Amino acid sequence: MQTDFLQQLRLAFPALKLLEAEPLRNYTSFAIGGPAPMAFPTTPSELTALYRFCLEKGHHPVILGAGTNVLAPDEGLRRLVVNTRGLRELAAQPGGEIAAQCGVPLAQLANFARARGLTGLEFAHGIPGTVGGGLYMNAGAYGGELKDVTVETQALLPDGSLWRAVGSEQGFAYRTSAFQCRNALILQATFRLAPGDPAAIAGRMQELAQRRRASQPLEYPSAGSTFKRPKVGYAAALIEAAGLKGCGIGGAVVSTKHAGFVVNLGGATARDVLATMELVRNTVLAKSGVELEPEVRILREEGENFLCNS
Ligand SMILES: Cc1cc2nc3c(=O)[nH]c(=O)nc-3n(C[C@H](O)[C@H](O)[C@H](O)COP(=O)(O)OP(=O)(O)OC[C@H]3O[C@@H](n4cnc5c(N)ncnc54)[C@H](O)[C@@H]3O)c2cc1C
Repeated sequence: MQTDFLQQLRLAFPALKLLEAEPLRNYTSFAIGGPAPMAFPTTPSELTALYRFCLEKGHHPVILGAGTNVLAPDEGLRRLVVNTRGLRELAAQPGGEIAAQCGVPLAQLANFARARGLTGLEFAHGIPGTVGGGLYMNAGAYGGELKDVTVETQALLPDGSLWRAVGSEQGFAYRTSAFQCRNALILQATFRLAPGDPAAIAGRMQELAQRRRASQPLEYPSAGSTFKRPKVGYAAALIEAAGLKGCGIGGAVVSTKHAGFVVNLGGATARDVLATMELVRNTVLAKSGVELEPEVRILREEGENFLCNS
């Protein structure tokens, strides 16, 4: 990132919080990543204007939600990181609908629905991301996915135009979406839920939280499931069968509690995580013939990259 571009941003957006070298490790659940320039818009109009300004100047910023599904580089990024967590408005609408801005945590969205006696988002309560990151990834758990409840998403396309994606236009599939395929920035979305009993909804959330605590290594920094579910079998089962539990490089290791998670035992670098992912991919391929694809989004200067080819 050129200093003069930051200067231009400051002049164009005098009220915008803009920091020159924020350690990405403070903004990612892996607790990994070097410094990057970071902007903190707080309204959809500010985010829209900022994004369009960047595109006009030939900069494609990195969009960051809660940072719970990304691996950021040790050397940091020169590209501007747009942190969306300031966009946190939620509104109940007629017909069991809820409108939510991209930075709303999924837990807050699920609690908002529960408090209004609306069921359908219990599965999302324990997913630590935001609405924007969740829709981009079509986050899901315990039989539910955001695709089941999302009726419309407003996004900005890489040419700066506004896109109202309705129903199937959102292109949701397992851990992907049209927003991911089209490199779109998600501004906000509308969810449609069904009437339900708040006590039963709360009970289901507690039950799922208990299942998460029992099965996932929540005591260590990670980005959740490192690999997507392959066409055959489950990633965690294949990794465990390959004898990889507890294996790793540097501070990164395949969790002994849940083989689907690579965790940061302390001081892991992005290189450690990538090398561990490579070890896992190669070993699983050799032992079972299955090629695992990363679910974690690997942030790079030139864009996101799904391959462990560091
Ligand atoms: C302990 C743990 C448990 C997890 N459990 C689950 C689970 O059960 N199910 C599941 O699906 N995932 C799970 N995850 C992964 C993660 O929480 C989800 O993928 C989540 O939806 C990511 O949201 P985020 O806001 O953190 O996105 P980020 O990590 O910030 O970003 C993820 C991707 O989305 C993009 N992005 C973020 N916001 C926007 C936006 N507004 N517009 C466009 N692109 C955007 C980013 O550029 C990046 O490519 C888990 C992670 C952890 C650490």
